[in-house]
Amino acid sequence: MGLIERSEWESWARSWGLAHEPQRGKFIRNEALVGAYKGYLLRVGWGGRYGTNLVVLVRFPKLSQDLKGLREQLLRSPTRSALPGWKGRAGGVTLQSTSLLWQYPCSFRRPTAAEIQGWVDRLLQQLPEVIKPFSGQCEQCGTAGVERYVLLERVPVYFCSGCQQRLVGEGDMQQRRYEQVEANYLVGALYGMGGSVIGGIAWAVLMIATNHIYAAVAIGIAWLVAWAYVKGAKKIDGVGKLIGAVLTMGGVAMGDVIFYAYAVHQAHPEIPIHLGVGWRVLLRVLMESPQSLAGEIMFALVGVWYVFRYLDKPKFKPKIEQATAS
Ligand SMILES: [Zn+2]
Repeated sequence: MGLIERSEWESWARSWGLAHEPQRGKFIRNEALVGAYKGYLLRVGWGGRYGTNLVVLVRFPKLSQDLKGLREQLLRSPTRSALPGWKGRAGGVTLQSTSLLWQYPCSFRRPTAAEIQGWVDRLLQQLPEVIKPFSGQCEQCGTAGVERYVLLERVPVYFCSGCQQRLVGEGDMQQRRYEQVEANYLVGALYGMGGSVIGGIAWAVLMIATNHIYAAVAIGIAWLVAWAYVKGAKKIDGVGKLIGAVLTMGGVAMGDVIFYAYAVHQAHPEIPIHLGVGWRVLLRVLMESPQSLAGEIMFALVGVWYVFRYLDKPKFKPKIEQATAS
């Protein structure tokens, strides 16, 4: 993939009166357009893995019809079915009660700004016959008039200032309620340990059965540990991350211990499979040729990274930004 430097949708943004989010960075395509157009709220950008999918989001007032039937109708409409990937399996069209999402994978050839603009225009043609556009009311309460859209987690919405305040206030309250809960470290650690042991045994069995080390298993152990920890502790915080990290490394180490115990028994059948033996072998390997464990250590670190991500504090307060363009 070549380096990406240029923003290409600027003139399109100007001609439709949309806000332009310029390309940031050089490796993943993330240029976007956001705003109100012909009564709908649009967000056009890139998504999917490595930003290779064209992602077009069209928002409208909440639908009361049957979504499945309406989606069929949209898929069949002659103007729209000519759009690339409209009926495709990869990407395709998702209809929800307040939005229509069209994703089109373009990893091989990237369409030009003019092409995309033409597609989005076609997508919106005669759309009001099927889906009503906004008429200036707040999406939440349906009563207050709203002139400008705001961005809720980067998605354009029509929320009146009262509803915005209520949303932020509710998020604040949930956040405070969460802060007040005491994390149960002991139960969390015990549950996490269970996950770590099960994961470690599975990792060892897989290594013995296939004579191969799979990096993905470290993530599996990490997932088990993190999931079990949250079940037990009921709350996530910094201490929980630390416990999760230690237990994940423990799970990986235990897998090694079982594997070594088994390997010793294979080589010397007179020695029974014993974890103490496996542990001593692991220590000796660590002392004498730690480089041979580099792979495992890396996998353990991948697991720890995953645990840290999984055990991130939940976010309750929505991010609302004012629109920048007219
Ligand atoms: Zn409102």
